[in-house]
Amino acid sequence: MINNPIVNDFLEQIVGADDLKNIKAIIQALIDGIDTDEAIHEKTEIKLNTVRKLLYKLHDASIANYKRNKDPETQWFTYTWRFEKEEYVEEITKFYEHRLNERQSALDNLENNLYFVCCMEPEHFKGDYTESSEFEFYCPVCDYELEPYDAKKEKSLLKRRITIDKKNFKKFEEAVNE
Ligand SMILES: [Zn+2]
Repeated sequence: MINNPIVNDFLEQIVGADDLKNIKAIIQALIDGIDTDEAIHEKTEIKLNTVRKLLYKLHDASIANYKRNKDPETQWFTYTWRFEKEEYVEEITKFYEHRLNERQSALDNLENNLYFVCCMEPEHFKGDYTESSEFEFYCPVCDYELEPYDAKKEKSLLKRRITIDKKNFKKFEEAVNE
């Protein structure tokens, strides 16, 4: 439920690439029922400050929640944390569906439209027929001609990514239902 490329991409959005390994260890600890920052710190050996920082990021993303209790002896507050599995699954599903839609519509655009690129440097310009005709089919950067864009590579890359994502999401769903 944690070790999945879609989950990685989703979590990376929340915490950045540097903390990806940490956030996964923390989520696993929460799943295992470890419920305080201190205990998570001891179990995972992640710095206490980092544990706290990441717990609050999970909280902001609705994936973790805490309860505040006052210790009757010391009068200090303690926080017990809980993993919100439903929200976690829901957020990852949303992330996956959004990405799938974007890639599918990019693919549809490539299937249904003819694009043109600068014949010298494709980075200069890429546009559909209407956009290209506005420049009379000359590159707005270097004035060389535009030529039809060969979308074969980009289309097969998108198709491959869509297929891989679908497969990985299926794995994620299976893991969730285990
Ligand atoms: Zn150009």
